Amino acid sequence: MRPQVLFPLFAANTSLSGVGPKLAQLIEKIAGPRLVDLLYHIPNRVIHRRQIEHTSPELVNQDVVIELEVISHAPPPRHRRRLPYKVHCLDSNGNKVDLVFFNAQPKYLHEQLPEHTKRFVAGKLEYYRKVYQITHPDHTKLKFEDMLIHESVYPVTAGLSAKSLTKIIGVALTKLVPLPEWQDKALLRRRGWTDWQQAVETIHKSPGDIPATERLAYDELLSNQLALALIRQHAVQMKGHKIKGNGKIRQKILKGLPFQLTASQESALHEIYQDMEKPHRMMRLLQGDVGSGKTVIALMAMLNAVECGFQAAIMAPTEILARQHFETLTNMCKGSGVRVACLTGRDKGETRKKITKYLADGTAQIIVGTHALFQEKVTFKNLGFAVIDEQHRFGVHQRLNLSAKGQAPDVLVMTATPIPRTLLLTAYGDMDSSQLTDKPPGRKPIDTRLISLDRLDAITKSLEKPLKEGKKIYWVCPLVEESDVLDVSAAEERFEYLKRMLGQQIGLIHGRMKETEKDAAMQDFINGPTNILVATTVIEVGVDVPAASIMIIEHAERFGLSQLHQLRGRVGRGSEQSNCLLLYKSPPGDIARRRLETMRATEDGFKIAEEDFKLRGGGEILGTRQSGDPEFKVANLSLHSELLQIARDDVELILNKDPQLINERGKALRVLLYLFERDQAVKYLKSG
Ligand code: ADP
Ligand code: MG
Repeated sequence: MRPQVLFPLFAANTSLSGVGPKLAQLIEKIAGPRLVDLLYHIPNRVIHRRQIEHTSPELVNQDVVIELEVISHAPPPRHRRRLPYKVHCLDSNGNKVDLVFFNAQPKYLHEQLPEHTKRFVAGKLEYYRKVYQITHPDHTKLKFEDMLIHESVYPVTAGLSAKSLTKIIGVALTKLVPLPEWQDKALLRRRGWTDWQQAVETIHKSPGDIPATERLAYDELLSNQLALALIRQHAVQMKGHKIKGNGKIRQKILKGLPFQLTASQESALHEIYQDMEKPHRMMRLLQGDVGSGKTVIALMAMLNAVECGFQAAIMAPTEILARQHFETLTNMCKGSGVRVACLTGRDKGETRKKITKYLADGTAQIIVGTHALFQEKVTFKNLGFAVIDEQHRFGVHQRLNLSAKGQAPDVLVMTATPIPRTLLLTAYGDMDSSQLTDKPPGRKPIDTRLISLDRLDAITKSLEKPLKEGKKIYWVCPLVEESDVLDVSAAEERFEYLKRMLGQQIGLIHGRMKETEKDAAMQDFINGPTNILVATTVIEVGVDVPAASIMIIEHAERFGLSQLHQLRGRVGRGSEQSNCLLLYKSPPGDIARRRLETMRATEDGFKIAEEDFKLRGGGEILGTRQSGDPEFKVANLSLHSELLQIARDDVELILNKDPQLINERGKALRVLLYLFERDQAVKYLKSG
């Protein structure tokens, strides 16, 4: 239950005077539907205007406030409506200054700027065809006192002007209520931070104010760390399983593999086994770049559980990947007697009944599924261990869902996206992690080239040779659904084109196909007649077809770095030389160019992740943006990593002293959690 003190802040924006449903909709689009969203809609810059007596050349391009005498109005000629409306003025030195308006409303302008009066005008001073001018002045006022010298500028959206948004936020600020102080008083004093209410006011009136920004950023980071710690506290309290098998099945299966584990696979496994052996609940993250061989680690850990008589599950983000894991694992387990089952959203009716029965009665020992598996009412006989693969595709909610499952399995989370340390902390709290630092031996570096899409025909022709040699090629097109506004060359179109040009066996796979159709397309590519698989990003995560050695990504400039890295990771999995062609529409923008250059320069997932982190915020790296997890609004992980550390230590102290948050500060901290809608975390506390 949200505490009563927060009710006013969570009121709908329509409760503000002057905000009707239409305006509310626009506000919702950029800030959110409630007052608290508006209050956290932070200005992104501030204008400091210079107060000037008269114009002069060195003032051009500056934001100024100047007193002008209005001389005359000059509307555009009748037939040339696109020309601006000008209001001719003079400054105190007698210099001409024009106020310039496009799509002007003459009546309004006559009211605001009557001829032969003096007005204070704010705006950017320009010099055009030997006349000073101000285009669309920000303000025109009769009295200097009414003029804004320092003004906050908010991010706006089409249809919502900066002026009206500023006004509405002004109204919202009058509704601010004091909240109980959740921060440590000593910390506030040391840092020179004010209380929450004042910090919110300050950040709107003097954007960029460091103490106010830090205070609000710290609030966010503290609530984030506290929520994660509470979830963790809850998870650890739940008893885990002591899992330590005799190793028999594992030995047998390892012997049957066509390769030996690498040193870093061995050491990661060692860490995982140690965790599994402990009595409390395990939560460990395994990070390993694409192609580093995480699947076999998952299998070994699951077999450890199976040896102890437990069931083990692995959960994948997509159906394709679940099916593929199923096949890989079934293959690896062949002859060992271990029973592997697969359950995804597509299994219906009798099949589903049969599989769920196997899960419930323990017939199935290893279960592969999509995350839907864990969200529905599927029961296991004794699930002791669960692996979540390609974690960055899941939001916090799925993670919670799994922990909430009755049997408290030990959990291993695997991700291919290297996550910078600060992000790791905000996404998982203090989760233990293991790294795969080397790749299986014998891999050749992928030859990556950037090529303009203008050369499409030539590129296509150049595929004839590798095709003759029997090579398999991925051809990735940008998503159709997400960007139908953009002029995207649809996968279907490319499919037809390649068929026409090459006459080869071309396959097609995209998100709108039925699951069975996707399967068939995938199968035809893996060991059937398909040589080129035209795909949307459905193949992005985890798909493993070692025979594929050429990756072509069309409109590469539209993809994010980690996505490109994931996609490229689909090739270079065998011992063959692989190629990646990044086709871009020229000229690419600045950021796109940097991304593409990074791709060409390195295959190192960590370097790519760091660059990605620099080029865009952290939320996107974790995929949280898609999953609806609110990002930080004030905190910026690259600026405030020191605060994150402090928040982490702070949380440790808080929970040591008051694990259920019931003393005075504890109660205030509950308000903080609700303010940032960490309701789920509060649920783990006794009511107080
Ligand atoms: P990812 O970490 O991206 O999930 P996979 O588990 O799919 O990687 O492994 C990529 C490929 O490397 C697979 O074909 C797998 O069989 C192979 N592989 C895994 N470990 C080794 C190893 N130690 N030596 C050789 N090949 C390996
Ligand atoms: Mg994988």
